[in-house]
Amino acid sequence: MNDPLALARPEIRALRAYDPEAGAGALERLHANELPWPPWAGDEASGLHRYPEPQPRELLALVAGLHGVEPGQALLCRGSDEAIDLVVRGFCAAGRDTVVTCPPTFGMYALAARIQGAAVHEVPLRRAQGFALDLEATCAAARGGAKVVFLCTPNNPTGNAHPDADLAAVLEAAAGRAMVVVDEAYMEFTGRTGCAGWIGQHPHLLVLRTLSKAYGLAGARIGALLGARPVVDLLRKVIPPYALARPAVEAAVRALQPAGLATVRERVQRLAAERERLAAALGALPCVRHVWPGCANFLLVEVRDADAAVQALARAGLRVRAFRDDPWLGHALRITVGTPGQGDRVLEALRT
Ligand SMILES: *Cc1c(COP(=O)(O)O)cnc(C)c1O
Repeated sequence: MNDPLALARPEIRALRAYDPEAGAGALERLHANELPWPPWAGDEASGLHRYPEPQPRELLALVAGLHGVEPGQALLCRGSDEAIDLVVRGFCAAGRDTVVTCPPTFGMYALAARIQGAAVHEVPLRRAQGFALDLEATCAAARGGAKVVFLCTPNNPTGNAHPDADLAAVLEAAAGRAMVVVDEAYMEFTGRTGCAGWIGQHPHLLVLRTLSKAYGLAGARIGALLGARPVVDLLRKVIPPYALARPAVEAAVRALQPAGLATVRERVQRLAAERERLAAALGALPCVRHVWPGCANFLLVEVRDADAAVQALARAGLRVRAFRDDPWLGHALRITVGTPGQGDRVLEALRT
């Protein structure tokens, strides 16, 4: 039997959702200890003296629509970073439960687990296979008592996407045993749809999406957790009641109108073309050992001397991500794909 709520912390399951806005409707607001006036005279339109909607309906509908799920299958959060934290807090008891991560990967999974006091079981990606999942070991970990398995596709920082068949195999192994979180922060750049459409068949699947990357809204801090209704309802009890600030929500609603979405599609294509140009040109430089093929808006580049490369780029006014202390990535750099002008400066800096 695959009941994801059976995996959750019992004390979270037993919580009653805190919903101070229930029934507030059109009545005058004397229930929330807000001021009756805007923060300064003349700012009547901002609405900032009122608490925001806990899950702003208009934005929730837009985001759910983008990913083909029902609004009740989506939870808006302060970035997918917060979604990661909510999952760990909802499912992992301190000192008892374990999460599985597949490094090298996004660092927030292990960080959120450690903050919660959950153990981290690392199942490294297979570098010689282009950072593919170690399916056998990952499935064994999913079967072996872990509470949450984090998969990232396309994976940050390696850039490769995991095939659907691999994700499906982990989901199958985890059914009834562990939650599987598929972080799709960069999915828009791949031209694929991702696996939100599988939520109906897999109640233990959670998909993370964000407005921070392809949608250009990193400063608004808005992400979404997509999953079966009971799990979304559970995690709604964990998220603070007024997590999303009104100006951020309004900015996101404006960005997700048809004109904004057309811009996103056009930019995603431009960035993909620039990524391929940059990958080919970087691969031809003497200081570059290997450019990992990536399908997101960054490239993982292995250089002969990471410190020298970082310094050369800094002299050109450019900052990239280095992984000095990472056991899997020693001399690799993660370079964000920017404008062609920025790409030219990267190439020029590394050529000299
Ligand atoms: C950037 C990133 C996120 C975080 O996104 P926010 O929505 O800005 O919190 C999540 N996962 C991965 C893999 C990322 O690279």
